[in-house]
Amino acid sequence: MTSPSDDPKQDGPKQDGPKDAASACGHEAQAMRLLQDLTRNVPGVIYQFRLRPDGRSRVPFASEGLLNLFGIPPEQVREDASPFFDCVHPDDAKRFRESVNASAASLQPWDLEFRVVVPARGLRWAHGRAQPERLADGSVIWHGFITDITQRKQDEAQTRRLAFFDALTGLPNRRLLTERIAQALASTRRHGDCGALLFVDLDNFKQLNDALGHSVGDRLLCEAAARLSRELREDDVVARLGGDEFVVLATPLGADLAAAARQAGALADKLRELLARPFEIGGIRYACAGSVGITVFPKGQETVEDLLREADIAMYRAKAAGRNRVAFFEAAMQSEVEERLALEQDLRRALASGGLEVHVQTQLDASGRELGGELLLRWLDPQRGPVSPARFIPVAEDSGLIIALGDLVLRRGCQALARLQRAGRSLQLSINVSPRQFRHEGFVARVRELLRETGVAAQGLVFEVTEGLLIDDWQATRARMQELVALGVRFSIDDFGTGYSSLAYLKKLPLYELKIDRSFVADVPDDPSDVAIVQAILSVARHLGLHVVGEGVETQAQADFLRAHGCHALQGYLFARPQPLFDWLDLRLGTQALAAD
Ligand code: C2E
Ligand code: MG
Ligand code: MG
Repeated sequence: MTSPSDDPKQDGPKQDGPKDAASACGHEAQAMRLLQDLTRNVPGVIYQFRLRPDGRSRVPFASEGLLNLFGIPPEQVREDASPFFDCVHPDDAKRFRESVNASAASLQPWDLEFRVVVPARGLRWAHGRAQPERLADGSVIWHGFITDITQRKQDEAQTRRLAFFDALTGLPNRRLLTERIAQALASTRRHGDCGALLFVDLDNFKQLNDALGHSVGDRLLCEAAARLSRELREDDVVARLGGDEFVVLATPLGADLAAAARQAGALADKLRELLARPFEIGGIRYACAGSVGITVFPKGQETVEDLLREADIAMYRAKAAGRNRVAFFEAAMQSEVEERLALEQDLRRALASGGLEVHVQTQLDASGRELGGELLLRWLDPQRGPVSPARFIPVAEDSGLIIALGDLVLRRGCQALARLQRAGRSLQLSINVSPRQFRHEGFVARVRELLRETGVAAQGLVFEVTEGLLIDDWQATRARMQELVALGVRFSIDDFGTGYSSLAYLKKLPLYELKIDRSFVADVPDDPSDVAIVQAILSVARHLGLHVVGEGVETQAQADFLRAHGCHALQGYLFARPQPLFDWLDLRLGTQALAAD
């Protein structure tokens, strides 16, 4: 169908005489009216659309449906189609343009479902189809129709909701969950990631439901669903299997299965705590805790059903252990995670009650003159006895406690330096800064604040960081290091040689020092390969102008070897054991320290 004013076969100005022109105009107007009458009550829009070679487009004819469906009077697009394009949903605009261009290029029919936004009617779905034809001047002209398919789309969405979502809580149902677990299994196997499946069952729900009636039960389930959903990340899925059973799929949880188990354990504990809070329904409070069973994957060739079964078994184990508990499918994971959680709790308590003490181990230069010392945390737990930093620092790092812990050491370090500097002692203090602490958003500001508060010259501070920090996102690391270096702080790479040993970054970072890891120092001068490594480190450092400390020096032979090969500083039991910071300070300041405070 064509409009009388835009005949594709005879495009261009017509050559009629004045009289003929007048009659042609009358004829055209009549034909247009007829077309409008004929198409007025047709559902949807019948139209002719024209795209010129220069990219401009117009709609020479559109039935009145254009006003109903898109809120645009047909006259408004007769010379310029832009108002029509403007109402295509922004997320569909690109697809829309591409489909028109493709149809123009191939002269294949245009066929597209797209969304439109009509101010008076909100979001609608439309389905357009049209047949293209090329004109002599290179334009393309389409004839076709657009129908409103909003109702059909809503019905489809509703069907999908019914098929894949739980009608009561709106959460994904078993079918969708199964699909998601299958995807997660495939993706974790492909990317070397881990994930976890948590089976959550409300304790005592059945009794509550029977005693209080289903409407209270339903509201409780909805509230439980809302609490679970709030706690999860975007990639996680929480589904309702039916009754009072929920399943959480958490991915990705990193490459290490044991670390993934710890994260899943922490998440389960958080969910358990959320469900243990009373539910308030109609002004009455109900107690209804939850038991959580966990399984992690991938462990082997397990299927979706295997995982659901494992998490279910673990959940029954949690219930059997006394409800309101968390249990793992694998017993070894259970004890490891429980021990970590217990350690974390004890550490939190120690931090709050002053149970952590800062010690310091002296560092000497090659001539035996004292340079300063390294601050090391000590934790003497009333039940556990002394706990090694090698055990509690990773727990602090995982749980985020490292921020408070690191802050404690930094604060003590600055206070100690202030005393030393006031007494005219130019000793330096090295402080271990963990990756999470270094990356914490408030770290630089905190260092600045402490320097200001204590009036310390930052040149007395050396931050020890590990190689891992430099490898992950090293651009950001460098930027942050530069900020701190600008304040006067110096950087040292701790345990050097045990990390990735890419020497490329050494040149690019504002470093001051390398600390040769004590595992290499331990076997010099006897082990030829350790001798070679230590010599190589010293030679690289010499070329780059870096200061070098040998750590873990226990024997005179080690010390002699290091000194002979140009190592600038030494630290180890041969010279001094770590001792409480206050004792160490007192020895260096005598009564001055007490007087100054
Ligand atoms: P590190 O920074 O490499 O600290 C040196 C470790 O070597 C200390 O262990 C120290 O006690 C030990 N050491 C010193 N001299 C000798 C020696 O002659 N022989 C032997 N065998 N060992 C020696 P420590 O105190 O157990 O600390 C272990 C690790 O825990 C530290 O390694 C550090 O990475 C971390 N750490 C300790 N305190 C802190 C802290 O305040 N913050 C952070 N982020 N990490 C800390
Ligand atoms: Mg260190
Ligand atoms: Mg070290």
